[in-house]
Amino acid sequence: MKLIRFGEAGRERPGLQLPDGRRIDASGFGSDYDEAFFAGDGIDRLRTWEERSAANAPIVPSGARLGPPIARPSKIVCIGLNYRDHAAESGMNIPTEPVIFLKATTSIAGSSDPVVIPRGATKVDYEVELAVVIGRRASYVQPEDAAAHVAGYVLFNDFSERAFQLERAGQWVKGKSSDTFAPIGPFVATPPEIPNPQALRIWLTVNGDSRQDSTTANMIFDVPTLVSYVSQFMTLMPGDVISTGTPAGVGLGMKPAPVFLKAGDVVAYGIDGLGDTCQKVVDSA
Ligand code: ZN
Repeated sequence: MKLIRFGEAGRERPGLQLPDGRRIDASGFGSDYDEAFFAGDGIDRLRTWEERSAANAPIVPSGARLGPPIARPSKIVCIGLNYRDHAAESGMNIPTEPVIFLKATTSIAGSSDPVVIPRGATKVDYEVELAVVIGRRASYVQPEDAAAHVAGYVLFNDFSERAFQLERAGQWVKGKSSDTFAPIGPFVATPPEIPNPQALRIWLTVNGDSRQDSTTANMIFDVPTLVSYVSQFMTLMPGDVISTGTPAGVGLGMKPAPVFLKAGDVVAYGIDGLGDTCQKVVDSA
């Protein structure tokens, strides 16, 4: 199944993207895709609803905005430096255990929403990533049990402001949490749609020029390892997001000098099986 949410920002309604590409309104199911939904076997109940009701459900109007495909979660946990080539271009050592940091949940946006350059920003950068949506409360989970705690996978972009992140003292979170810096979607794909999350092409272009083009096979720590690892330090709640890191090719790593995003740029990106999207970069109002 592919879960979507559509409509005006903050007032999204749940929906499904069917195998034939049609998008249907799942408001009739009666629940948003939030913590209670995932905790209460929502995916299984939604599948039953789909079998019975999809044929008669309203079609999502063409041109409707796609919002983030999950309601705002309790946290977004990001993995840093999880691709060797990206660690190298960042001038960082290959991590011996996963690097984790948090991103404010207020940074979540729809996958086609504009990316807003925050006030005072000079070094806005992109990071296309595979994200995991947690399906069951996870605390001290073993890697072999991790798959049972995954509700699905989703395309994610860990937009970053490198000066805020690296030059303003303290933790990376300052450069990761601006509004619109966490576009998510277009849809959450449930695990049967993604049989092997470690064999997906992942790519990104800026104004049509290829910047990132890799495969999730190049991750240093795989999805089960990451879910298990994070759960040793915090309880993951249903609906929480873990984003698994970005491959090489970010603006910060460009030679001979870094190249950052500016208003008017168009960032397009995608992952096999998780769709693709396109976002325009705009100045803050
Ligand atoms: Zn990242």
